Amino acid sequence: MKKLLHYLKTFSLWELLKGLKLTGRYFVDKKVTVQFPEEETPRSPRFRGLHALRRYPNGEERCIACKLCEAVCPALAITIAAEPREDGSRRTTKYEIDLFKCVYCGFCEESCPVDSIVLTDLQHYHFENRGEQIVTKEKLLAIGDKYENEIAKARKEDAPFR
Ligand code: SF4
Ligand code: SF4
Repeated sequence: MKKLLHYLKTFSLWELLKGLKLTGRYFVDKKVTVQFPEEETPRSPRFRGLHALRRYPNGEERCIACKLCEAVCPALAITIAAEPREDGSRRTTKYEIDLFKCVYCGFCEESCPVDSIVLTDLQHYHFENRGEQIVTKEKLLAIGDKYENEIAKARKEDAPFR
């Protein structure tokens, strides 16, 4: 009897029909696949992405080279060099973040007394060549310049006293 059943199943393509039934069910079911990058999955409001260095509205860079962010960084990802400018103000001559070391903890942002270094919500970035993961001061300022409106808005919503 068992053998007969086996033969019947074989000749009626039973397994194939079972598979097609499953395919058919998922064909009409609600789709769960996200069409990235056109679609994105929900993101936490606490998400921390690419860093940026900000400027004041007059174009002057905010960073005063106090090195608090460098000191507080648990991953030792920040490297700063500084010297006084001609006008006596202290500014960085080098500000680099190694994104391979960074753990996106946000401590640098929290420690900054002048709201200079921030973590944006940018997540679509990649590196193609060795060394590109080290983001220089120029690049960080360029990111800050490009997204200043969004950064300022986000920080106002986050902490209206700023
Ligand atoms: S987010 Fe954290 S790990 Fe990354 S640079 Fe800032 S302090 Fe360092
Ligand atoms: S980014 Fe902020 S914490 Fe870091 S050196 Fe500049 S002023 Fe200091």
